[in-house]
Amino acid sequence: MKPVLALVGRPNVGKSTLFNRLTKSRDAIVADYAGLTRDRHYGQGKQGKHEYIVIDTGGFEPDASSGIYKEMAKQTQQAVAEADVVIFVVDGRAGLSAQDHDIAKYLRKIGKPCLLVANKAEGMREGIQLSEFYELGLGEVLAISAAHGQGIRGLVDLALEPL
Ligand code: GDP
Ligand code: MG
Repeated sequence: MKPVLALVGRPNVGKSTLFNRLTKSRDAIVADYAGLTRDRHYGQGKQGKHEYIVIDTGGFEPDASSGIYKEMAKQTQQAVAEADVVIFVVDGRAGLSAQDHDIAKYLRKIGKPCLLVANKAEGMREGIQLSEFYELGLGEVLAISAAHGQGIRGLVDLALEPL
C-alpha cells in the first residue's frame, strides 16, 4: 500500500491548493483502497520513486448549537484515522486561531505522526513570523507556499521519511 497523507486544517489555509500541488490525478483511488471512504477528495502523487496518496478535507465550520466543530468530527477524524502521516496546515499570514488550537489538541491526543506546515509563507521572515506556531506543541514548523510551489519537495521528503 502507498502511504496516505491527510491534509487537515481550518478553512482557507490552502489545503486544496496544496492538494493540487501534491497530486496529479484526483479521486483516482477506488479498488486498491477499499478501506477509504469516498466523501472526501483523494489523489495520488509521486516524488522520485516514492508514490503516495493524499486526502484533502473540506475544512470545517463551527457548529453553533453544540459549540464543537461538526465537520471536524466527520472529515478530519476520518482522514486522520486513514492517514499514515497527518499534514496540519496553518495560515502563516493570518497567524494562530482558536480553531488551530482545537485541531492541534486533537492531533496531540491522537498521537499520529504529524507535520505542522505554515502555508502562504512566500516572502516571509520565517524565524520571526512563524514562531508563534510553536505554541501548538507539535514541534517544528515547516514554511511552505502551496501557491508558489515553495517547500513542497522538502515537505514530501519529511512526510515519507518515517514510513
Ligand atoms: P482550503 O480552504 O484550506 O482548501 O484553502 P484553498 O486551497 O481553497 O485556498 C484558500 C485561499 O488561499 C485561496 O485564495 C488560495 O489562492 C490562497 N492560497 C493558497 N495557498 C497560498 C499560498 O501559498 N500563498 C498565498 N498567498 N495564498 C495562498
Ligand atoms: Mg479546500
